[in-house]
Amino acid sequence: MAALAADQLLRTDQDVNDAPYQERWAHGKVVRSTHGVNCTGSCSWKVYVKDGLITWETQETDYPSTGPDRPEYEPRGCPRGASFSWYTYSPTRVRHPHVRGVLMEMYREARARLGDPVAAWAEVTGDPDRRRRYQAARGRGGLVRVGWEEALEIAAAAHVHTIAAHGPCGSAPRCSTTRCSSSPAATSWGCWSPSG
Ligand code: SF4
Repeated sequence: MAALAADQLLRTDQDVNDAPYQERWAHGKVVRSTHGVNCTGSCSWKVYVKDGLITWETQETDYPSTGPDRPEYEPRGCPRGASFSWYTYSPTRVRHPHVRGVLMEMYREARARLGDPVAAWAEVTGDPDRRRRYQAARGRGGLVRVGWEEALEIAAAAHVHTIAAHGPCGSAPRCSTTRCSSSPAATSWGCWSPSG
């Protein structure tokens, strides 16, 4: 079959404006990062930044080799991660702490009565009836917005209680990558939730 001429493949009857395409992928620098929110994957990504804004990202491919008898990690990453640069700036993104309402009510009541965050958290989470109430509310909405100070207090109280009850390793999150270890120092901000 004869090769097609250029004017049979491409439109020649109008100017081509590829500026929007070039601007879409333009960037000033590339930084390495991952997606720490609600994911313990810690996949390595190259993040393209322009004027301080994330514009797009691609998977990094410089993981250490796993050896000759195992498949290599690369490429690592999931579709959700590949779309992070889009929903980072989404107007629907949650920007404030939220806690399940029923849990918040019980915590505040115990906190006011006992006067101590750790004691309040221990009481609420250690009571089978109250525990069942807030756990049964999972997946049904009912989250309430709380201030950062109160959210951080609950988070700290939960960690202190867990360490006191189960030892320091009890506060280390599950991690699915070789980057983390079972050390208490191996923490991930994204995978722990005080909302029960
Ligand atoms: S690419 Fe996916 S699995 Fe990896 S860190 Fe991002 S969200 Fe997690």
